[in-house]
Amino acid sequence: MAVEHVEVVILGAGIAGCALAHHLARRSVGPTVLYDPRTTAAGATGRAAGIVTEQLWNEWDVAVTREAQAEYASLAARRDPSAFTANGFIRWTAQADAARLLTDATARLRRWNVDVRPIGRAELETRIPWGRFDDVAAAIFSPHDAVVTPSSLTDLYAAEARRAGVELEIGSPFHRLVRSDGGWTLEVGQRTFRAGHAVVAAGAWSKRLLTGLGWPQPLAPYRTQAATLRPAAGGPEDFPSVHDVDLDVYARPEGNGRILAGDGTELVEVDPDRTPSGGDEKFLGHLAETFTARFPGWADAELVRAWSGVCTATPDRRPLVGPVPGSEGLVVLTGFNGFGVMRAGGVAQRLAALLAAGEDASRELEGLRPVLPGRFPPGTPGPRPRPGFTLEGGNEPRF
Ligand SMILES: Cc1cc2nc3c(=O)[nH]c(=O)nc-3n(C[C@H](O)[C@H](O)[C@H](O)COP(=O)(O)OP(=O)(O)OC[C@H]3O[C@@H](n4cnc5c(N)ncnc54)[C@H](O)[C@@H]3O)c2cc1C
Repeated sequence: MAVEHVEVVILGAGIAGCALAHHLARRSVGPTVLYDPRTTAAGATGRAAGIVTEQLWNEWDVAVTREAQAEYASLAARRDPSAFTANGFIRWTAQADAARLLTDATARLRRWNVDVRPIGRAELETRIPWGRFDDVAAAIFSPHDAVVTPSSLTDLYAAEARRAGVELEIGSPFHRLVRSDGGWTLEVGQRTFRAGHAVVAAGAWSKRLLTGLGWPQPLAPYRTQAATLRPAAGGPEDFPSVHDVDLDVYARPEGNGRILAGDGTELVEVDPDRTPSGGDEKFLGHLAETFTARFPGWADAELVRAWSGVCTATPDRRPLVGPVPGSEGLVVLTGFNGFGVMRAGGVAQRLAALLAAGEDASRELEGLRPVLPGRFPPGTPGPRPRPGFTLEGGNEPRF
C-alpha cells in the first residue's frame, strides 16, 4: 500500500475539524486530509441546538465566539442564508441569589463589550408572549446573539475546504494512528497517510484516541439531550432564544412551527459508543413540567422528536486546543464543554494561524494561551461534567 505524504491529517469532521480544514486551506498550509469514519457532523455537531451567545463566563470565550459568529454570518450569507439567524438571547431567574449573579454577569459582560441589558417583565411578556413571568426577579437580553444550523455550517466548511484542495476521506474504517519516522501515520480503509501534524478533533471520541496514543488528556464525555416540539397552534417563527436559569431549560425557534428545547445534561462520564441516542423519560418529564410552569402558551405542545448527543468536558470548562507538549506534531481541538458550535469557527481560525506560523509562533500561541493543553499538568484526571449555562464568571480558569 503506497504511503501518501501530506502536511496535516485532521481526525474528526464535526464543526471543529471542518472549520479547521477550511482555515488551513485558506492559509495554504500544505496538503491536508480531513478524515471521519462516519459522516460530516455525525457526532455532537449534528445534534446541537445551534445557540450562539456572547453571554459567556470568560473574555477569551466571548472574543472567540464573536469571531465565530461573524464567520458563520458571512458563510451563511454566501451559501445558505437559512443556516444563520440573529434572534437574540434572553435569560431569567426567579431566585434572589441568582438575580444578583445575573446582575454581576451583566456588568462583567458589558466590560467585555457585550451588548447585553437588563429587561423588565413588560418587555419579557412582549418578546415571549406565551410565557408567564410574574415571579421573575431578573432577566437580561443580548439582542445580537444568533441561532445557526450546525450541520449546514459544517457541510459549508467541508465544501469550502474541498474546493480549496483539502482531501475528505469520509466513511472508511479507522485502523490506527501512530507516531513514526518523525511524523504521524494514519491508516484508514485501504489508505495510509504520513503527516507532520495529526490534529485530533474527534469530539467525545478524542479521549480514547489520545489515551491510546499514550498522550492522555483530562477529558470526560457526557450526555446531553434536546427535543423538538410543536404547539397545537404552531410555534412562532421568530423569537429570541431563551434560558430559564432556575429550571436549566433553553428553547429556540426551529422553523415550521416547531420549538427546539433542551437541558438534560447528565453529570457523569459516558462512553460515546454505548450511549443511547434517544431522549429519556426523565428529560421529557422535566421539559413538560417546565413548559407548564413557564410557557403556559406552549403547554399543549406535541413532541416531534427527542435525541441525545455526547459532549466533552475539561476541568476548567475551556476547550483543549493546540500542540500536546512534548508530542512533536500531535495537536488537539476538542473539549468544548457543550459550547462547541458557538466557538469552533473562532478557535479554528486561531489554530490554523498557529499551524501556519512555523518556528516563530509566539503571537499565535498567545491567541490560544487560555486553552493550550499544557495548562494541565501531566496526569490531570478527567473532570466531573458540570452544567452548561452557569452564572459564574471571571478571567481565571478554575480547577
Ligand atoms: C443536545 C445538544 C445540544 C447542543 N447545543 C449547543 C448549542 O446550542 N450551542 C453550542 O455552541 N454547542 C451546543 N452543543 C455542543 C456542540 O454540539 C459540540 O460542542 C460541538 O458540536 C463539538 O464539535 P466537534 O467537531 O468538536 O465534535 P463532534 O461534532 O462530536 O465531531 C467529532 C467527530 O469525530 C469523529 N470521530 C470519532 N472517532 C474518530 C476517529 N477515530 N478518527 C476520526 N474521527 C473520529 C466522529 O464521527 C464525529 O464526526 C450541543 C450538543 C448537544 C449534544
